Amino acid sequence: MQTQADFADALRQRIAEQGKISVADYMGACNAHYYASHDPLGAKGDFITSPEISQMFGEMIGLWCADLWARSGAETVHYVELGPGRGTLAADALRALASQGRHPHVHFVETSPVLRGEQRKRVPNATWHEAIETLPGDAPLLIIANEFFDALPYHQYIKTYSGWRERMVVLDDDGFRSVPGDLPAEKKVPERLHDAVAGSIYETCPTGLAIARALAGQVARQGGAILAIDYGHENYNAGDTLQALNAHAYADVFSNPGANDLTAHVDFTAMARVGKLGGARVQGPVSQSFFLNTLGITARAASLSRAHPERIEEIGMALHRLTADEEMGTLFRALALVSPSWPPAAGFTGA
Ligand code: SAH
Repeated sequence: MQTQADFADALRQRIAEQGKISVADYMGACNAHYYASHDPLGAKGDFITSPEISQMFGEMIGLWCADLWARSGAETVHYVELGPGRGTLAADALRALASQGRHPHVHFVETSPVLRGEQRKRVPNATWHEAIETLPGDAPLLIIANEFFDALPYHQYIKTYSGWRERMVVLDDDGFRSVPGDLPAEKKVPERLHDAVAGSIYETCPTGLAIARALAGQVARQGGAILAIDYGHENYNAGDTLQALNAHAYADVFSNPGANDLTAHVDFTAMARVGKLGGARVQGPVSQSFFLNTLGITARAASLSRAHPERIEEIGMALHRLTADEEMGTLFRALALVSPSWPPAAGFTGA
């Protein structure tokens, strides 16, 4: 495996030979190296995700799948996860599905060999895919994506005194840094922003939107649903949300390429739009706290605490982290794209 220093050297050489590269190419290359080289999750890693905080998260998602599947009347279903990390969410969700007598086929879309190894430890009978194109076409799909869309390459555009330009990455004596590109990029930016003040930034993730649209089309035809949970916003106008995380702290996006997790906020309004274009019914987005509370996470925490009195404090803290407004409850949002031939999914209306 290439070291981070070797990766940074190769990136330096690429920019020296080809000239500046887009922020999206930079983000794509950095994250590919980052995820391929190590397991970033858990207490010793760079960031922690909901399924790693508590088994309750994956269990609620498993019960969500079991309920929707039961009401659909479908016989067989494929459980699909995009970017399953260490496989923790899938293991918890599949246990909850099994408790309801439901045993789906399991498919993981994962590019990182290191994380595939982790996933194999927890879900040995999964089928792995490099990309969504090879997912099965013969039965309904229940597709889960937690903190997947935020890690895909984002293009950024910056308003300069000479108009909009794509934000590019160059290399100079101080290292990597961002500069406006040379070509006009007005066509890539919504018209409402054409007169924005200089310095404004607009970002978009065409890779993520293309995946959401293709999968929405697939569930519309085959049955099933997509559940995307991520941190993000609705009615995004403009602004830079690209960030780097290392050892649970923010780092500089352009320093130490390949050593940090690079992510940006998911544009849920755009995700809903492409889901609809793909032919799916859109539910949400709602906040993670609304989604988990509506599905009954508080009752699950109470029964888990009764069964494990020695863990009461830990379970209470996990519930708080997953659902409190100042923690992951509000910043994280849940969106479902459901086949029009399937019943509506739970968790998006009522309480
Ligand atoms: N869903 C997990 C992990 C989130 S981290 C959790 O909630 O804990 C992002 C995951 O997406 C990792 O598994 C990473 O390897 C994977 N990933 C990133 N880019 C990818 C791509 N282009 N194709 C497939 N998987 C990707």
